[in-house]
Amino acid sequence: MATILELYRVDYWKYRAEGNANIVLQYIGPHSHLRNTVLRLRKANRLDDPGTELQGTNFGDDTMTKKDLTVESHFATEVIGLLLGQEFVEQLIAVALPPGFLPSLALAIEPSRPESRRQKGIDLAQSVGFLALDHTRFIKPSPGQSDVAVEIKPKWGFLTKSAFLRKDQDIKRRKCRFCMYQHQKIKTGQEGTLSKYCPIDLFSGTELLVQDAVDALVDTPQNNLRLFVDGIQKSVNRESMAQCLSAPSTSATTQLQEQQQKRKPQWMEGDDPLDYEEDDSGPVRLTDVLTKILIESPLLRRLGRLQQALDSLDVETVHQLYTYLIEHDAAHLPEPTVEEFLETAEAFMDRTDMNAMMTEDQDTFESHNAAGLGFEPEDLEELPEPLQLHFIREFLLSATLKDCSILITIQRDTATVGVATTANATLSRLEVDAGSEFHEACHRIKVKEEMFLYKIICIDLDPKKMTSVPMYLKKDRTIVNHYLATVGDHEAACGAN
Ligand SMILES: [Zn+2]
Repeated sequence: MATILELYRVDYWKYRAEGNANIVLQYIGPHSHLRNTVLRLRKANRLDDPGTELQGTNFGDDTMTKKDLTVESHFATEVIGLLLGQEFVEQLIAVALPPGFLPSLALAIEPSRPESRRQKGIDLAQSVGFLALDHTRFIKPSPGQSDVAVEIKPKWGFLTKSAFLRKDQDIKRRKCRFCMYQHQKIKTGQEGTLSKYCPIDLFSGTELLVQDAVDALVDTPQNNLRLFVDGIQKSVNRESMAQCLSAPSTSATTQLQEQQQKRKPQWMEGDDPLDYEEDDSGPVRLTDVLTKILIESPLLRRLGRLQQALDSLDVETVHQLYTYLIEHDAAHLPEPTVEEFLETAEAFMDRTDMNAMMTEDQDTFESHNAAGLGFEPEDLEELPEPLQLHFIREFLLSATLKDCSILITIQRDTATVGVATTANATLSRLEVDAGSEFHEACHRIKVKEEMFLYKIICIDLDPKKMTSVPMYLKKDRTIVNHYLATVGDHEAACGAN
């Protein structure tokens, strides 16, 4: 664990964002080796009197120990890293938090926090925090260029083909979870309008469908699309998405015009260049670049196939296994440890040919996936207990992958505009301490004759709980029943267009 003295000044940190479990602060101090970092701290329930809590170190019952915190960070790097590939998982550096630092920090950032999140605060009992790269920016700034980052929460990228599905759940083979859930969200007032986005299109790997899905996310972003320019969050709409890449540096504009001139047909020589247009020669839109990256990078395909392969049984069957185990030993169904999750992931990888999984067409992948289980629905109750546990854990790993986000960071690459090769990746490093460094892999991609740099990573990879299985089942049934009651089974299947 690193002790980095430059970290521990309250005025070096600015509130950035928070979720239910963690709060993220951005480094704004003078040290260049920390310039691009964020500090992630765990939250805990406040005691009744917030004033007392901010001055003391006494917290509610969900305070985690130092050991737990470190182990939890291993879940993403080791377990999900094994499944998705280490290069797609966020790197964390554990840093010691000296006594007295957190209470002052908590007081200082309190005014910046949204009211709705203040029922929890920084867990003052934690002695370990995590330093991470600010992935909305690149390690190396490029003068005159903006870093544009897009965070996509893609959700469930598959229609179940499980042989274990009940007859009355058959709609799940045709309509995706996201599209059905939209109707439930309207009913509860969580959303005002239906999203135009369908994950099946985004995960399809077909350029036109991916482009449609990205455009739909821009039109109805809900909480599935966020935009950052130079680390600052911007509202998402067609204008903001168009503008953030629309002001190339002078050299890039000149080169683009030169390229357009070069491609100009002979008969047009001498015409005003402004009158010359062809379908793919307009300014490159951010959505064009995103589409190309999502198709070129293996991450989205890997994510979608893992979600499906780890959820071969469907929640109905997983809940049945959960019930058998509870009936057998009601008092003892502990949450999986990181080691147990790792064993589950390793066993899954042993029975799975990842190369085939990544290259097979959808039908072949699904038939291999079903055959790989080695048992039929009628064998379920007879499965040995360790196997029953194993398949519940696989389902929980799938749940993590259904709930994560993909962060793509893009910058114009003026240094190599016009260079044909797109496959090379370069590694940048940021040494934060002797022996501790961050690295990021930057790829190059050519979109409509312009070159861009990008990095892509998966974030929000938290372990899911065994005790949530009954909740998952309840939610799934509510969504399906509401969809069937209000819409019925007559719409076109997702992905059928
Ligand atoms: Zn859908």
